[in-house]
Amino acid sequence: MPDLPLTGGCLCGGVRYEVTEPLVSAGYCHCTRCQRRTGSAAAVSARVAPGSLRITAGEELLSSWDPPDGFKKVFCSACGGALFAQSPDDPDVVSVRMGTFDSDPGVRPTYRQFTAYAAPWEPIPDDGLPRYPERVPQQ
Ligand SMILES: [Zn+2]
Ligand SMILES: [Zn+2]
Repeated sequence: MPDLPLTGGCLCGGVRYEVTEPLVSAGYCHCTRCQRRTGSAAAVSARVAPGSLRITAGEELLSSWDPPDGFKKVFCSACGGALFAQSPDDPDVVSVRMGTFDSDPGVRPTYRQFTAYAAPWEPIPDDGLPRYPERVPQQ
């Protein structure tokens, strides 16, 4: 178990956050939005316990893309670095982009979702994780 709070931030360092409770779960997403958002084959995010994420610097830099049918994609407006996804219905439901943590966040990805849309140019790793063609069943 890592020391709490976990800390992390964006590419330019303008936005900093902390997570005060252990992370709940983590998984890979192969959806088209994650491909477009990251410019890569998949994205990996970790769900935080409700209310455990605090922005400690750069809140004014936060911007988001708010799709009509899904989580807000929150990023730093100065560097474009992806930070987290946030439910439009409940701002406490947040998944942090795992690459933004300063150190080992403790959790490991346990599933791959939206594999039906996986990039044709990169095989899904044969890592034994359960694969879900659509959204992972509620964690
Ligand atoms: Zn930034
Ligand atoms: Zn996705």
